[in-house]
Amino acid sequence: MPYPARRLRRLRTTGAMRELATEVRLSVKDLVCPVFVREGGGTSGVGSMPGTRVMSEDSVCDEVQEIADLGIPGVMLFGIPSAKDAAGSSAAGGVVQRAISSIREVFGDGMVVMADVCLCQYTDSGHCGIVRDGRIDNDESTRALAAIAASHAEAGVDTVSPSAMMDGQVAAIRAELDERGFRDVSIMSHSAKHRSGMYAPFRDAASCAPSFGDRSTYQVPYSNPREAMQELEEDVAEGVDIVMVKPALAYLDIIHEARRRLGVPVAAYSVSGEYAMVRAAADAGYLDGDAATMEILTSIRRAGAGIIVTYMAKQAAGLLR
Ligand SMILES: [Zn+2]
Repeated sequence: MPYPARRLRRLRTTGAMRELATEVRLSVKDLVCPVFVREGGGTSGVGSMPGTRVMSEDSVCDEVQEIADLGIPGVMLFGIPSAKDAAGSSAAGGVVQRAISSIREVFGDGMVVMADVCLCQYTDSGHCGIVRDGRIDNDESTRALAAIAASHAEAGVDTVSPSAMMDGQVAAIRAELDERGFRDVSIMSHSAKHRSGMYAPFRDAASCAPSFGDRSTYQVPYSNPREAMQELEEDVAEGVDIVMVKPALAYLDIIHEARRRLGVPVAAYSVSGEYAMVRAAADAGYLDGDAATMEILTSIRRAGAGIIVTYMAKQAAGLLR
């Protein structure tokens, strides 16, 4: 009997055969593209994230049009206000709410509009919660987050995406949305957002680095997978519609475990540092950026994420056509 009876290479003989035997497919329909919108001033590039832009208010719909033309079904909005204060008051009424309204007006139901719900771009402390006596006040912060989420809902958002990692933020937001009659607005929580070195380029774009300390009192340590699962399970118990793991590439085990254990859709956020690493290596000629992008995004799908929020969305969409 010649060895082996099964030859795995038989299913790799031609491109058509490999296509047929593909187990995990990445689709443009899995992708959500982050969009930055700035109050006042014009559109500009982001130095540490070549190929991405911060949009002016009056050009945000041009960016969304480009995203829609590529077939990407969702955007996630991040606002950059012109002024900050201790309470982060412009988060509950300002640039993001106006952007949501204008996108809704132009695109109707043809684009899923998601918005980040956090305080760090809006507080002068740069923290994701309200600071009292040098500490983040959890419960005051969740009340503020609930008010921000309701203001997004009023502007016409489909999905709010709390990213502050305050305990009880999903329950507080769900209660506020329901009470105000926004029962159809869904919550995609940054459920297991890790304390990561991979967010630095985003802070370059959104200028929201903390003015003191760091985010380690609220974000999950990357050494604690059981704690990450608890965060995910608590969000499910609080009524979340979609859980999210953030970042993605260094957390594929958490994504996989979430997919295995939880009944709700699992999203992954491939963050700015993941994008910047690939772009920098590609721009230096060290690797093929397109090939690395497709491999990374497919690995996130393979781990179990059904939705991928990524700065690579437009590039991947172009390659997937
Ligand atoms: Zn934040």
